Amino acid sequence: METTEAFRGLECVDCGAVHEATVATVCPDCGSSLDPVYEYTSISAESIRNEGDPDSGQTTPGIRARAREAFAALLPLAPETSLTAGEGDTPLVAAPRLADELDVAEVMIKDEGSNPTGSALDRGICLAVSAAAELAHEQSVEPLAVASPGNAGQSAAAYAGRADLRSYAFVPSRCAFPNKAMINVHGGEMQVAGGRLGDAVAALDDRLAADYHDLGAFVTPYRHEGAKLIAFEIAQEREWDAPDVVVVPATTGELVTGVAKGFHELETLGLVGATPAVVAAQADGCAPIAKALDEGNDQADPWELPDTIAGELEVPNPAGAAEAISAVRDTDGTAVTAADDEILESAVAVAANEVLEMGAAGGVAPAGAWKLASEDWFDPDDSVVLVNTGSGLKTPDVLRSHLMGRGVWISWGGCSREYP
Ligand SMILES: [Zn+2]
Repeated sequence: METTEAFRGLECVDCGAVHEATVATVCPDCGSSLDPVYEYTSISAESIRNEGDPDSGQTTPGIRARAREAFAALLPLAPETSLTAGEGDTPLVAAPRLADELDVAEVMIKDEGSNPTGSALDRGICLAVSAAAELAHEQSVEPLAVASPGNAGQSAAAYAGRADLRSYAFVPSRCAFPNKAMINVHGGEMQVAGGRLGDAVAALDDRLAADYHDLGAFVTPYRHEGAKLIAFEIAQEREWDAPDVVVVPATTGELVTGVAKGFHELETLGLVGATPAVVAAQADGCAPIAKALDEGNDQADPWELPDTIAGELEVPNPAGAAEAISAVRDTDGTAVTAADDEILESAVAVAANEVLEMGAAGGVAPAGAWKLASEDWFDPDDSVVLVNTGSGLKTPDVLRSHLMGRGVWISWGGCSREYP
């Protein structure tokens, strides 16, 4: 398996052993998750900066190199051995009305809805399936399998199709219909488990008796690694001026961990001055990472009765909870939670005022920011980035039901008015 020059291997987060990339999933010594590590002193910050600079002469004039090429030295697989469908390079959109509302200098939304399958999960799944496809030359990896609320399953089906590998997505019955439909459309096998995410996880173990290659976050070492590109792109787009705060929907912990790791690497290389405070945002009805941070714990207890309308946020036992908790602490960030009504109202308000269509789960970022603003957590001169994890087209019914539930009648013309 061909890896990049500075890539040192996969380091176990518990026992510290560093393994070759041919180790497909968790640490063979102790079973803990693995984290890709690099020899940073052999990476040239200058060449990364120039790759990303449209006027440097190293790229076609006026055209910025794609982030995965500009930041190739900070990824485990060379771009030429990696699958791609144009994931990443998502827009960073100014939200001036939201900045006024929150009373901060600047709010920008990193819109992950424009990834190939409409969610931020494409970043990590692309890398994880690329690694599996490389491993497939040397060992058996089929079938690929993942249990997820929906987006990771859809993404896995898509990238496995490109790699010509068989895949299974295990989703709960409550999974959003667009996810289920598109898993089929991408040619993935789908297993629907009655109930919630925990039931889909159990079904993956029960029904796939044979060996499978698990694409679960922090089982594969690559999902949080792919999420680093969110940080890289934000820094590149802002011409290496890191924002003060990044608010990230927490889900499995992979996005929080990846964003913090990405900025930390840029800081190590001197490309940004400081790592922003990373805020983990969760729903009131399923907030194991926020609770652990609140109680000063290093690990999260599984959430006993998970219940939120935003299915992607309903991850009661996040695989990367410990990593996300330490990422938030290391960056002097915090956790914030919001009620379902606040989450949906926020997604609707962003759509109404800032154009962008946020999925229900993405709504927890502005909802969390509103809550932090009400607690005077921000400085008035803060630059704040909100990560929208998925397209509004994944959950339009949920957003629309919310409007109707609060008494807004939606006409055929798409206009709305209050009921008398
Ligand atoms: Zn280990």
